Amino acid sequence: AAKSAGKNRFSYFTREMDEEAHMRLRLIQELRHAIQLDQIHVHYQPVVELQSGGILKAEALARWTHPLFGNVEPSLFIPLAEESGVINDIGDYIFREAAATIKHWDALPGLPLEISINKSPIQFGTKDQDKWLDYLQQLELPPDRVTVEITEGVLLDVSENVSSKLFEYRDAGIQVAIDDFGTGYSSMAYLQKFDIDFLKIDQSFIKDLVTNHGNRAIAESIIAMAHKLGLRVIAEGVENGEQMALLRDAGCDYGQGYYFSRPLSANDFENMLVKRNGTHSASSLH
Ligand code: C2E
Ligand code: MG
Ligand code: MG
Ligand code: MG
Repeated sequence: AAKSAGKNRFSYFTREMDEEAHMRLRLIQELRHAIQLDQIHVHYQPVVELQSGGILKAEALARWTHPLFGNVEPSLFIPLAEESGVINDIGDYIFREAAATIKHWDALPGLPLEISINKSPIQFGTKDQDKWLDYLQQLELPPDRVTVEITEGVLLDVSENVSSKLFEYRDAGIQVAIDDFGTGYSSMAYLQKFDIDFLKIDQSFIKDLVTNHGNRAIAESIIAMAHKLGLRVIAEGVENGEQMALLRDAGCDYGQGYYFSRPLSANDFENMLVKRNGTHSASSLH
């Protein structure tokens, strides 16, 4: 009896694994057509200067609206897009869409906003020579209005592709941010070598910042180190006023999170800007 139960359990697990594998393949197939079918769009989340409350920039975040499953989480579909290589097309699409939107918002009152765009390690791969600089030129958007967000792992990749691309960005004036900082391995020397502009403190350190002294010490150390190296710091995942005040008093430059705003559709973000800047003053949140 034990043996057959084991066997049943085994076939149960394999069936479940089959279904999961099947679902992954299905989603990858559908992702390939998602752009043409107009299922991919961009949401925008403000990055706010903690001292003034002014908005520096928006981070572009990919959204996939599946006809059957509704909104699929980026934490689910971005890894599938990376595995299958579709991330190159999706990444280019998000870049063009977001850059054009920021350019469009120049017509609104308030400061010209910058745009921050995520770029995954796969997008630095051998085949990919992104045409992002060409597109910015076409759009007449100055490259220094654009930040590319990469993770620490990308910096440690010693391949020629990565370093030549990062130097190309630096020479053109595109800014570079290290996303999810503190969760991977970083070399301080690489922050200097590639002339990195921003560190984004990972939200896991911000979550219990107020009660967890270890995480507070980590956040404060990152801020101090970054400033000594001439980098600016953005805290991710700021959800309440206590966290905001603590970070501001610790000298953190910028914050991003639900406390200021959730990621918004282009329309909603635009309405938010217009509401704040009805007069020609700088845009401000909180
Ligand atoms: P990320 O680049 O670190 O983006 C920040 C994530 O934190 C976003 O999740 C955002 O919605 C979420 N977030 C913002 N404020 C808060 C907060 O106060 N509390 C909490 N709990 N979360 C907050 P999202 O949009 O689900 O994206 C997840 C990840 O997917 C991104 O992390 C990024 O790594 C990746 N991703 C999203 N869009 C793209 C893209 O266009 N290209 C690439 N390569 N990756 C992308
Ligand atoms: Mg990011
Ligand atoms: Mg720079
Ligand atoms: Mg992050």
